[in-house]
Amino acid sequence: MYNEFLNELKEKIDNSWIHVNEPMKQHTTFRVGGPADVLVTPDTESLPEVIALCKRHSLPYHIIGNGSNLLVGDKGIRGVVIAVTNLMGDILCDGESITAGAGCTLGQIAVLAAGNGLAGFEFAAGIPGTLGGAVVMNAGAYGGEMKEVITSVLVLDTDGNQKELSVEELDLGYRHSCILEKGYVVLKAKLKLCRGDVGEIRTKMAELREQRVTKQPLEYPSAGSTFKRPEGYFAGKLIMEAGLRGYQVGGAQVAEKHCGFVINKDHATAADILQLMQDVSDKVEAQFGVKLEPEVKMIGEF
Ligand SMILES: Cc1cc2nc3c(=O)[nH]c(=O)nc-3n(C[C@H](O)[C@H](O)[C@H](O)COP(=O)(O)OP(=O)(O)OC[C@H]3O[C@@H](n4cnc5c(N)ncnc54)[C@H](O)[C@@H]3O)c2cc1C
Repeated sequence: MYNEFLNELKEKIDNSWIHVNEPMKQHTTFRVGGPADVLVTPDTESLPEVIALCKRHSLPYHIIGNGSNLLVGDKGIRGVVIAVTNLMGDILCDGESITAGAGCTLGQIAVLAAGNGLAGFEFAAGIPGTLGGAVVMNAGAYGGEMKEVITSVLVLDTDGNQKELSVEELDLGYRHSCILEKGYVVLKAKLKLCRGDVGEIRTKMAELREQRVTKQPLEYPSAGSTFKRPEGYFAGKLIMEAGLRGYQVGGAQVAEKHCGFVINKDHATAADILQLMQDVSDKVEAQFGVKLEPEVKMIGEF
């Protein structure tokens, strides 16, 4: 089924960017997920061609960044996974603006910003995602969010046209943008920061890093906060008060260190994680009448 697609693909892009039957556990921070039929890591120029080729062959395609907010099913992903990596990671600092490719990591951008005496991106330094994923999720932490720093985003629309969207057009809200609904792919984003003191920026980044290391179970694979913050509550606190600290299904566990994180404690499967999320959600709803909504995005066959 994929032979013709792969032959054509091999003529268009570097063959080392094409992976067949690729285990998704190598592309997710949860370290779970069965094989993707095909995984491609294009550069900015070839990404539109790869998508056009998928369409011509009627193959479904899925865009991922660093896989730090993903739960991929144990049976893997049918179709083509297009991973936005540092091959799409051009980055340029000009005055108080930074323009970066969707594949840049937030860490890279934070380091460049700090080095250039630009403040306002410290909040994002420890979020282990790409710029594209952060735009999609309107990622945020410690009182900051992407919405405050984005000026515009270059996307590829479903007809294969590139469009520049203003921050207003992105409809950014709590862990939400219009990107997924509209089927856009983020190619680049322009950020506006402000002048600051290099030493102070680096100190703030180090303090926030220290808070993460102290409070979050970074020693285990996870996808960060598993559930969104329900209005008026904190998911982790509700889960703790429901007596679920350390609750385990197979190899998945509600982290002892921070109940808002589900961790892959010991060779968890996606099915373990999904079941644990369901149990947690049911118990919290039964006890407090609050419905927990997953923050992690689920893709593939479970
Ligand atoms: C230890 C840890 C700590 C975390 N802390 C935080 C935190 O403090 N704040 C926070 O907000 N999040 C946090 N996260 C979650 C995660 O890092 C963010 O949601 C991040 O923005 C996801 O980026 P990504 O590149 O990994 O995207 P992925 O997880 O690969 O994808 C997320 C979604 O975006 C889509 N997507 C990705 N790239 C593109 C693109 N270029 N174009 C179109 N769609 C795309 C995918 O299809 C998917 O729906 C944490 C995760 C971990 C593991």
